[in-house]
Amino acid sequence: MGEHPHKAEYDFDVVIVGGGPAGLCAALYAGRGRLKSVLIERGAPGGELLNTDLIDDYPGFEEVKGFELAHHMFEHAKKFGAAMVTDTVEHIRPGRDGTFEIVTAREHTYRAPAVILTAGGTPTKLGVPGEREYAGKGVSYCAVCDGAFFQGEVLAVIGGGDAAVEEADYLTRYAEKVYLVHRRASLRASKLLQERAFANPKIELIWNKQVEAIEGGERGVDHLRLADTVTGEPARLKVGGVFIFIGFKPNVGMIEGHVRHDASGHLMTDDRMMTSVPGLFAAGDVRSQLTRQITTAVGDATTAAIAVEKYLAARREGAQPSVTA
Ligand code: NAP
Repeated sequence: MGEHPHKAEYDFDVVIVGGGPAGLCAALYAGRGRLKSVLIERGAPGGELLNTDLIDDYPGFEEVKGFELAHHMFEHAKKFGAAMVTDTVEHIRPGRDGTFEIVTAREHTYRAPAVILTAGGTPTKLGVPGEREYAGKGVSYCAVCDGAFFQGEVLAVIGGGDAAVEEADYLTRYAEKVYLVHRRASLRASKLLQERAFANPKIELIWNKQVEAIEGGERGVDHLRLADTVTGEPARLKVGGVFIFIGFKPNVGMIEGHVRHDASGHLMTDDRMMTSVPGLFAAGDVRSQLTRQITTAVGDATTAAIAVEKYLAARREGAQPSVTA
């Protein structure tokens, strides 16, 4: 990814915010549509792919490493001429004339009549004592990043969704044992991932328990204080580390003004991926939808980029853009 030269203001047809699978796919299609586009990503391109070890549910790739798929998607987007810059988007300001101002941490301003927001999310925190204190000292939100530091240790994974179950399985390649601690008595994860976890002798399920506190000392995390979600009975679980996978909060804080969203803050869109703000499109993990897969992220992004082309054409012809109720 390059940086833009010194000039601080730029005009584009569409600005893509975020460089995960949705952003890279949107850039690919925007390039094919010959739109003047730029993708702004604060880190390395790939998003959540970079936090995933092995992917076995992306069609055409029976098994592919997350970082490899990220690389392929990045190269593919570049091939169609996508401009990409490394910067952090701090504000997305809808203007009265239907043009957005996208302001970055480097104080660059990008103007465009359309924005595709593909900024993903950040891991939800448990919000218990010790979580912040031991972050990086035994508390982690990324198995691929930190798993290798826990060779031969006993670990806890918190959560019952796809991420928790998949990452618990991944962590057993390093850990001696992984407790999967879930607040209910059945997992939310897909059946295939559940079967894998149940068949793994290093994984032990702990049902109906919530974390009350993460405790330790100078050497980091030592144990969890748990409470039974049915009886309230307290328990203590000795672990050398805890990996928390209890969902994602969508990264939507940079949008100024109100955009329709669901109870968890994910943006509502119409079937063209347009939000309640005309010209502001959303794709991938920021969008309110049934599931959040790589396949759905790239599907959203394809629709969004093609819808942007049509939106801009209608705008040039002076047609009123459709607005989500
Ligand atoms: P998720 O599906 O929302 O699951 C979150 C889990 O955390 C749930 O089991 C939930 O419990 C639990 N939880 C939430 N708040 C909690 C709290 N305060 N304390 C304890 N537990 C709490 O999130 P995810 O697993 O991160 O997955 C997000 C999306 O990405 C999903 O659509 C998923 O399908 C997708 N994903 C897919 C794959 C894959 O297909 N390989 C891999 C990773 C993620 P309850 O069940 O009781 O609500």
